[in-house]
Amino acid sequence: MPAELIDGAAIAREIRDEVARETAALVARGVRPGLAVILVGDDPASAVYVQSKGKACEEAGMHSVTIRLPASTTEPELLAHVDALNADPAIHGILVQMPLPKQIDPDVVIRRIRPDKDVDGFHPVNVGKVLIGDRDGFVPCTPAGVQELLLRSGVETKGAECVIVGRSNIVGKPMMALMVQSGRAANATVTVCHSATRDLAAHTARADILIVAAGRPRMITGAMVKPGATVIDVGINRVEDASTKSGYRLVGDVDFESARQVAARITPVPKGVGPMTIAMLLSNTLRAARQALAS
Ligand code: NDP
Repeated sequence: MPAELIDGAAIAREIRDEVARETAALVARGVRPGLAVILVGDDPASAVYVQSKGKACEEAGMHSVTIRLPASTTEPELLAHVDALNADPAIHGILVQMPLPKQIDPDVVIRRIRPDKDVDGFHPVNVGKVLIGDRDGFVPCTPAGVQELLLRSGVETKGAECVIVGRSNIVGKPMMALMVQSGRAANATVTVCHSATRDLAAHTARADILIVAAGRPRMITGAMVKPGATVIDVGINRVEDASTKSGYRLVGDVDFESARQVAARITPVPKGVGPMTIAMLLSNTLRAARQALAS
C-alpha cells in the first residue's frame, strides 16, 4: 500500500490559525508581535520569500516591516539597520534574508541580531540553547517545522532510529540537536550523514525516521528506505520539465514515486516541509513578543 501523505500545507494552516488566535489575545493585552525582514539586493527567489513572509505576518495580525536595500549596501550600513531594529520596541523578531551580497559577512550580521529577537535561530546563543535543550532558545524554522510535522502526524520518535542526510547549520545540525533531546517528538537515536559518509544506503535503510536535506534531486530512492519508515523530504530542487508552462518543476531530495511504495508516511514536495517554515517563523515571532512582555 502506498505511504500515507503527511500534509504539510494543512498542518501549516493549522499552526497559522493558532498563531493568529494567540496574536489576537496578545494584541488585546496591548502588544502586537512585530517582525522585520531585511532584504539586500534583488535575488528574485529571495524577493518572493520575503514577500510571502510579510503577507503571512499580516494575515496573522502581526506588525510587519520589510526593509529593502540595494545590492551595493555595505556591511556597516546593514549593521546600522540591524542596530535600529534591535532597539525598536515594536519589533520582536528580526530576519535578514540570505544569501547576502559578497561584500557582507553573514556571520557578522547574524551575530549582531539580539538573540532574543533572532527568530531564525541562527545566532550562536540560540544554536547553543537548542543543543543543550533550553526551550527559551529559538529553533531554526525548517527543523522546527519538521519536528512539528512528526508530532502532529503522531509519529513515534522515542527510541526510533532517526537518520538525517545533510549537516548544514540551517537544517541538518539543528535537526540532529532537536531529535536527540529527551523531550517530546524527540528522544531518538540519531545518525547524521553527509558527503563523506560511506555507504549512505546502509544508514538510510535502517531509519525508522528518515529526514533528507541534501539539496540533491531525488537522491534517496525507494530501495534506500526501510519498509514502514516515515520519510521527511526537506529538499526543494528545480528540475527541467518541458511538460510544464514554466519549463521546470520542483522536486525533493527523495524520489517520491519509489519511496512512497515502501514508506508508511511521506511528505510531498511541494506542500510538505516548505509551508511549515513560514508557520514556524510566525510561531517564533509570537513567542519572542510574549517573552518581551514577560521580561
Ligand atoms: P546545504 O547545501 O547547505 O547542505 C547539504 C548537505 O547535504 C551537506 O551537509 C552535504 O554534505 C550533504 N550532502 C550533499 N550531497 C550528499 C550526498 N550525496 N550524500 C550525503 N550527503 C550529501 O543545503 P541546506 O541544508 O541548506 O538545504 C538542503 C535542501 O533543503 C535543499 O534542497 C534546500 O533547498 C532545502 N531547504 C528547504 C527548506 C524548506 O523550507 N523546506 C529550507 C532550507 C533548505 P557536506 O556537508 O559534506 O557537503
